[in-house]
Amino acid sequence: MGHRVVLIAGDGIGPEVTAAVQRVLAAADAPVTFEEHYAGETALQHGYGEVLPEETIKAVREYGIALKGPCTTPIGRGFSSVNVALRKTLELYAAVRPVRSMPGVRTNFGGNIDLRIVRENTEGLYSGVENTITKDVVASMKVATRPACHRIALWAFRYATHRNRQRVTVFHKANIMKMTDGMFLEEARKVHRNDYPNIQYEELIIDAALMRLVQDPSRFDIILCENLYGDLVSDLCAGLVGGLGVAPGASIGDEHAVFEAVHGSAPDIAGKNLANPLALLMSADMMLNHLADTRDDASCRATAERVKAAYDRALKEGQTTQDLGGNLGTNEFTEAIIARLPR
Ligand code: NAD
Repeated sequence: MGHRVVLIAGDGIGPEVTAAVQRVLAAADAPVTFEEHYAGETALQHGYGEVLPEETIKAVREYGIALKGPCTTPIGRGFSSVNVALRKTLELYAAVRPVRSMPGVRTNFGGNIDLRIVRENTEGLYSGVENTITKDVVASMKVATRPACHRIALWAFRYATHRNRQRVTVFHKANIMKMTDGMFLEEARKVHRNDYPNIQYEELIIDAALMRLVQDPSRFDIILCENLYGDLVSDLCAGLVGGLGVAPGASIGDEHAVFEAVHGSAPDIAGKNLANPLALLMSADMMLNHLADTRDDASCRATAERVKAAYDRALKEGQTTQDLGGNLGTNEFTEAIIARLPR
């Protein structure tokens, strides 16, 4: 049986990339069993009257772990984001996104990038509090609460300590948003001073920080951001190492964790056998390592290492999808990875 994991395929390229990841994990004899549940447009198609069915939430609560493909969010109308709702409902307050140079993937930014983005996942401008002031004036409220600022800072420093990381850098705009970003900084400083004085700490105003990030990404270690900055910085950092096809992630809370790539549902390439499944496969590897850590199951770590060895080898040999300069489709890339799994 192995560990029971909720699978949310999502929509757009979601079903293609989740199917590819399931194939690789099955070939690697990963000790997990998937149980599919629905969210987003597919939940509506399966007859649920809502985009985030209670049944899906209940399953993630029960199993504690989910692997999730992307869900489309309509722009400027329609239902609000399923992703935001899922993260808020399950209190998945820390998004962690590893960004590392990949073997064989050429970029303009050097080959020694190894940083982590820790993004606050539940508030900021994603609070969804928008008001009509007059017919021609609307407002969106940026929310910061002290407990949420504190817990994400604690999470980032604890993560830094467990992973032998040296430095936490906060990107902020507290010169303009004095209260919200100001509180975010206050709590980060407090956690550094009181709990983790041995980890280096720095603060950078986000505009200058982004310039430094593209000039020399290798100087960054852990980047801690509020919600919107974290979202933007994640895609920028993906671009530094080869694109969204190699940007994995996880949304983690004290009780549950959902593993999902940074990318969205990519409607422009959906159903064309063009999507790169690697970002979700790397997210699945993070999930296996998380299972190894939290459930003391060494076989999960061993599987994660075999899967990583296989995709690293495929990349080195140029056996990749088009977004990484190769000429394979989703299915062929999946087969190339499976063929390289260490026996
Ligand atoms: P996107 O990430 O879906 O796509 C941006 C670009 O990157 C597109 O050109 C796409 O083809 C390419 N791309 C993305 N993933 C790729 C992959 N795995 N392989 C190859 N190319 C890939 O961003 P978008 O177009 O702005 O958003 C589309 C939808 O996804 C929107 O509705 C958005 O709200 C949603 N979204 C969902 C999530 C999530 O579910 N976690 C995250 C981001 C965006």
